[in-house]
Amino acid sequence: MHQYTVPLSQKVPLRLAGELSKRVFFVSEDIESFELVEEKEGETAVVCAVRVTTRAPSDTVQMRSMLNQLVSDDILPQRSVMEHRIWQSSHPVTTHDDTFDRMLDQGIAIPSGEGQLGFGDPFTGLVAHLDEVFRAAAQRSFGALEHRYPSLIPTGVLARSGYLTSFPQFLMFAGRLHGELDSYKGFVKQVSDRDSAEDTDAAVSRALADHSTHSGYTLSPAVCYHVYEQHAGKSLDADLVSVTARGTCFRHESRYHRSLERLWEFTMREVVFIGSENRVAEARNSFMQDVFAIVEELGLAGHVETASDPFFCDAKTAEKIWTQRLMQLKYELLLPVPGGRSVAAVSFNTHGSSLGEAFSIRTPDREIAHTGCVAFGLERFAYAFVCQHGLDPAGWPDAVSRSVQSSGATEASR
Ligand code: ATP
Ligand code: ZN
Repeated sequence: MHQYTVPLSQKVPLRLAGELSKRVFFVSEDIESFELVEEKEGETAVVCAVRVTTRAPSDTVQMRSMLNQLVSDDILPQRSVMEHRIWQSSHPVTTHDDTFDRMLDQGIAIPSGEGQLGFGDPFTGLVAHLDEVFRAAAQRSFGALEHRYPSLIPTGVLARSGYLTSFPQFLMFAGRLHGELDSYKGFVKQVSDRDSAEDTDAAVSRALADHSTHSGYTLSPAVCYHVYEQHAGKSLDADLVSVTARGTCFRHESRYHRSLERLWEFTMREVVFIGSENRVAEARNSFMQDVFAIVEELGLAGHVETASDPFFCDAKTAEKIWTQRLMQLKYELLLPVPGGRSVAAVSFNTHGSSLGEAFSIRTPDREIAHTGCVAFGLERFAYAFVCQHGLDPAGWPDAVSRSVQSSGATEASR
């Protein structure tokens, strides 16, 4: 291991330390771990350097230049807006410290690659139950139509939505071999003839560089982009259209992956609203109330506050973050997990008319449609649930344990 202390040309105030920490691993794949180094500046502390550990010797000049660029382009321009707490559950915080380790020991969580986990009962039953509760609430309140979409999404749709240039770090593009015999043969030869010291991944990477192309599709990082694409170029036949769907989502979270909280592959239930400005704002706000009631009924501690997305690499990063926080376009439900931390389990988003414009969606009055979405991270939500209520269904609220046990019994009798 090699350690470098990279000094920052411009010091970072502590209020932005979290924003810096969220992005350091995306600066270079060489970084194995890092810590922020603080110093006193007058009465206050600031981040003056980043101490990084790399597996191989690294080009420190380049690392320094990239870290300083990150600080000046994406971190320092962020203005300060106080987080605004709008709701707090009535349940006190209690968490079970070693929940993830016990899930691993009991085979309830099954590691299957970086940022990827398989699951067993009762966790799978819990995820299914929670998903059904969220789906049913959307159907009850808005008559939301249930849809199912593919895991792959045309990359052009992500470009149209702005995702491609706002969050490039997360995207997992689907590649394929050039569709010609010579390419297939060349690929097979390169992979089979590899030097015995070279591992499969390195050989495949090399062969892909020579013989592959982008398929035109990307593993979808969220569900709602499918919905905007479905309505692209159309006029809605109602003031509010609501669609709900569950899908597998993919985000390359670099080394930030962690337990069930942050995965490269996870499941999202989204409820999407498209319609007039008022109806979309109303729908998001009233669905937040539905979710608050669900969290209370599930007996969970938690709160909701304003949030922003981890925009990256775009000259407008800081402006976007500031606008989101100031206009309260995004709220997050934070649920406590062990170690005094909380995880964002649900986000409640409105996008103004930006996606309606990008996808040319109009209201029945021929106005540009507004959009919003509420996104539940099912594994993250269920993980916070077991951290608070334990892994044994006997300790869960009655309605949940009954539903999980009866679905287990139905499965068993099949
Ligand atoms: P975070 O700030 O934690 O990265 P986000 O703001 O990017 O989350 P959204 O894009 O709003 O999250 O996604 C909706 C929900 O999906 C989140 O509230 C969370 O529950 C879940 N989620 C997002 N990213 C992941 C991930 N990498 N692993 C597991 N769940 C995730
Ligand atoms: Zn969404």
